Amino acid sequence: AGLARTHTFAGAGLDDELELKKLQVFVRIRPGVTAGAPRWDAENCIHATSKYSIAIAPPEGSQAYKSGDRGQTYSFTRVFDEHTAQTEYYEATAAPLVRDLLRNARHNSVMMAYGITAAGKTYTIEGTKHTPGVMPRALVDLFAGLAAHVEPLVARASYYEVYNEQIYDLLDEHGVGPLGQRAALRLKEDTLGRVFVAGLSEAEVGSADEALALLRRGSRQRQRGETALNYSSSRSHSIFTITLYQQGLEGQDSEGSGSGEEAEEGVGGGEERLGRISFVDLAGSERAQRTGNVGVRLKESVAINSSLMTLGRCLEALRWNQQHKGGGNLRVVPYRESKVTHLFRDALHGWGQVLLSVNVSPASKDYDETAHVLKYAALATQIGTIQAAEAPRRTIKAVSPAIKKVKRKAALPPE
Ligand code: ADP
Ligand code: MG
Repeated sequence: AGLARTHTFAGAGLDDELELKKLQVFVRIRPGVTAGAPRWDAENCIHATSKYSIAIAPPEGSQAYKSGDRGQTYSFTRVFDEHTAQTEYYEATAAPLVRDLLRNARHNSVMMAYGITAAGKTYTIEGTKHTPGVMPRALVDLFAGLAAHVEPLVARASYYEVYNEQIYDLLDEHGVGPLGQRAALRLKEDTLGRVFVAGLSEAEVGSADEALALLRRGSRQRQRGETALNYSSSRSHSIFTITLYQQGLEGQDSEGSGSGEEAEEGVGGGEERLGRISFVDLAGSERAQRTGNVGVRLKESVAINSSLMTLGRCLEALRWNQQHKGGGNLRVVPYRESKVTHLFRDALHGWGQVLLSVNVSPASKDYDETAHVLKYAALATQIGTIQAAEAPRRTIKAVSPAIKKVKRKAALPPE
């Protein structure tokens, strides 16, 4: 009730645009590679059959083929073939999430890249210096949009990773010991029931460049930890988040934000946390048999697979609950069983939007794993509109109509 009072809507029709959307599942096929050297691979086991479908078939002579498997066709929100440029993928995936956040400052969204190691997750999320991925592009658009807002909002960035089901801050250099050991952070819930990472550093950022500088700092930190702890970054999930705050509020309690989180983190009064956008580069989804892991590596595999499995089970339970809405027997969604699902419970549950980027390699040698990835991802596409009548909303006052036309700064090279 407290929320409703302060809502201001920029115009008629906006409400419809803000309707919560389906869980979206995008598939991106990467160009073929052989033994790490990027080059075209004739031995492809998958191809896009339309803008919305993909076919996968086992190579002749493979175990799968011998056992009678002749492949599958799956449909997704969109399928992007190996010729897809970074701009095109960004426009279809993260750009609408940024626009939603600029229209409704309470919007929560998360884009997760899922797939086996070397399938193009990091290329998609971060990209390279000359071909930036969705995240740097989203940051440029977000800050250009925020600058066009009459009402100033504060943006803060956080960057952390989940390794062996432990959360580590990548922006807190003081939390790192001489060998790169770091203190694991805990998940908590504020009085509004929102999940947050207790003690996580959040740095105020005023531009895309500042946010990107933090990202680079965190990535260096991640590498340091990697060397010291002897693991590869493809064995951890990394999460970069921009959260919007409104400052200068009087009597913030009436806004419903006098939450445990602010008290917990010692952020000054008169501030309200609004929406956020997160980019998750999930750990490689390949299963343990393939990597033939033992010891520490096996423990990593178990942690990764159980978290990805939990994500799948959450999606399945959400789907079930949608299909049985109003008809009793609803399932408990096991958000708390893994860090990634618990972290994004709010977005998964409907206070925003979840977008899955399924990155696949077309190489025949990856057939078994890729078939598994597509089967898993196909399950997610069956989730309809996630209802969230209680989803909070707050439109930023006096949104400039020129927002869409805001010129992108020259921070990104042309493609
Ligand atoms: P992952 O993060 O899934 O383990 P990467 O994103 O690191 O995989 O991709 C592995 C390699 O393939 C990298 O060198 C990356 O630059 C390259 N690569 C991945 N996807 C593409 C693509 N769509 N176009 C060109 N190169 C790509
Ligand atoms: Mg990667």
